Amino acid sequence: MKGQNPYPMGSLTKNYEQKAIKKRLEAFLIDNVGKVVTRQMLIEVSKDPITGKEPENWHQRLSELRTDDGYTILSKRDRSYLSVEEYVLDSLEKRASAGKRVLPTKDTWGLVLARANNRCEWTEGGHHCCLAEGDIDPIGGGTVKLTPDHMQPHSVNPNSDPNDPAQWQALCGRHQVVKKNFWDSTSGKINTIAVIQALPNADKALAYQFLKTYFGDD
Ligand SMILES: [Zn+2]
Repeated sequence: MKGQNPYPMGSLTKNYEQKAIKKRLEAFLIDNVGKVVTRQMLIEVSKDPITGKEPENWHQRLSELRTDDGYTILSKRDRSYLSVEEYVLDSLEKRASAGKRVLPTKDTWGLVLARANNRCEWTEGGHHCCLAEGDIDPIGGGTVKLTPDHMQPHSVNPNSDPNDPAQWQALCGRHQVVKKNFWDSTSGKINTIAVIQALPNADKALAYQFLKTYFGDD
């Protein structure tokens, strides 16, 4: 079930002098578009061109190239044949919908909390969570802190409106974790691909087998 890797190996053949780590990573990935680059290469490119110091946050910059700049950078999460140390910039095309993760304005958040009665708005099977700010969470333990959650996961709709209370809900910490990217509260649908991506390989294989049988591809 481990497919052939169609991507050739890339290489690091020059120095990248751009000031920002993200800019150096971007230039290097563009030079190697459609090729496999390794974690070691990315760390090398991330090093300060003058001091040679290795930054701790290169991985975060890589993730910003995905979320903020809209590049499709494949990893083991996306392709089974890539190893944990391998990445591929799939094409030079940027997803137009990419944007910075936004938060509701102070006013919007105030309206959301008022609507929520200062309680967690999570609903599951008709049961409301209703934990209030400062409560002790009887399941997760710890003191409840309510934070804003965009109803549609970032991966589905990154263009959140900070001024529209209807797009936001108040969630306790435990339900922020439960939801993650798995649930689209607006459509009420599970974000199936995100769930499958998060599964261990054995469970991915079960889903794969199910789909093959379902579609008669066996
Ligand atoms: Zn809750």
